[in-house]
Amino acid sequence: MTFNRRTFLGTAGVLATGLAAPMVLAQGKPRVVVVGGGAGGATAARYIAKDSKGEIDVTLIEPSRTYYTCFFSNLYLGGFQELSDIAHSYGTLAADYGINVVHDWAVGVDRGAKTVSLAGGGSVPYDKLILSPGIDFVDGAVDGWDISAQNKMPHAYKAGSQTELLKAQISAMPEGGTFAMVAPPNPFRCPPGPYERVSMVAHVLKVNNPTAKIIVADPKPKFSKMSLFQEGWANHYEGMVDWIGEDFGGGNVSVNPDAMTVTIDGEETQVDVCNVIPAMKAGRIAEMAGVTEGNWAPVNAADMSSKADPDIYVLGDASQQGDMPKSGFSANSQAKVCANAVRGALTGSKVFPAKFSNTCWSLIDTDDGVKVGATYEATPEKIAKVDGFISQTGESADLRKATYEESLGWYAGITSDMFG
Ligand SMILES: Cc1cc2nc3c(=O)[nH]c(=O)nc-3n(C[C@H](O)[C@H](O)[C@H](O)COP(=O)(O)OP(=O)(O)OC[C@H]3O[C@@H](n4cnc5c(N)ncnc54)[C@H](O)[C@@H]3O)c2cc1C
Repeated sequence: MTFNRRTFLGTAGVLATGLAAPMVLAQGKPRVVVVGGGAGGATAARYIAKDSKGEIDVTLIEPSRTYYTCFFSNLYLGGFQELSDIAHSYGTLAADYGINVVHDWAVGVDRGAKTVSLAGGGSVPYDKLILSPGIDFVDGAVDGWDISAQNKMPHAYKAGSQTELLKAQISAMPEGGTFAMVAPPNPFRCPPGPYERVSMVAHVLKVNNPTAKIIVADPKPKFSKMSLFQEGWANHYEGMVDWIGEDFGGGNVSVNPDAMTVTIDGEETQVDVCNVIPAMKAGRIAEMAGVTEGNWAPVNAADMSSKADPDIYVLGDASQQGDMPKSGFSANSQAKVCANAVRGALTGSKVFPAKFSNTCWSLIDTDDGVKVGATYEATPEKIAKVDGFISQTGESADLRKATYEESLGWYAGITSDMFG
């Protein structure tokens, strides 16, 4: 069977063992292969390469030459960031850290032979394999929508052209038009993400199209930082946002991308923009590697190793790890724990006890930033929450501005931690 990018993208659940492929021969050094150059994968590759000082060969497989962070992509929609501000390349990882960056899709994992096959042909051998492929969407999750409709009704939940498209659609809305969002069920990437997006869309509409309306159909009865967002929407965007939760039929939704209609609990509405964010699952390569159970890949909290294979590690959104939200901060934190453990396993270097942390900032309006965060530890069962904090309703404008400024510092820090 011949695999290429097109067949991979169009074919689910294929375990690509035995692909005709020239095998890269072992060089004598232990070999780590990382699939996915996002928040988890880029961080893990960089830390292993940096800390092993050439003792470990690191290969990073990532199809895109430019990684657009989903984090701050809502701020791009809101006009607070340029697209170029959220674009990052892999040049420094190759040039300064000696990482073998391969721009291709991983299309199969042969766990017996310990190789990863590539869409472009060939396979890469590993001693330890780290998977951080992010998310894919669950087929049939929103009635009437599939990936072929993403140009009419974008998800914009993988950043880049989808985010640009959504922004263009918002700009082209007629005066007094309607923006609809179909929000996803738990668990999903970035729990506050849809609601920060609603805030940023409202911010743009308030300036350019103040009689426009936003409808959110949500299958959940509540959501992350709910009281903070609802307070912000009432303060900044009064009467503009209509959030329809589970109790009001928000989970009973279908869409018609050709007619541009959304039907919520039997009531059909004509809309101008429809942002469909379907239910999510681990990026497909995790399933192809045979390390998923249901939609996600269960891992051991101490080192992020897969419960199905001790030589495979799963980071970030794709993993099922316990209490951490699926965020870039979480993926970055998990990647450092994993990098330390993988290096220890391959070179005998000291392994420190796993400690994790996360903060999710959201911008509601200009200088109105809020946050939620926690620290975590590894238990035999899961990554378990230790201590948390959250912004409060009614906070002063100065505190909210300081919270927003903190998020700018975090963004600069995490992207240099990922890409060098
Ligand atoms: C709108 C929005 C706002 C967000 N805001 C925040 C925020 O403010 N703070 C925060 O911490 N998080 C935020 N997030 C969440 C954050 O983006 C994700 O949780 C994070 O990117 C997860 O990291 P990851 O490594 O699991 O996946 P990703 O960062 O998505 O990286 C996965 C990479 O794997 C690659 N890949 C997939 N399959 C293959 C394959 N077969 N072969 C090779 N490569 C492959 C992809 O191309 C991709 O580059 C936000 C998300 C969204 C959508």
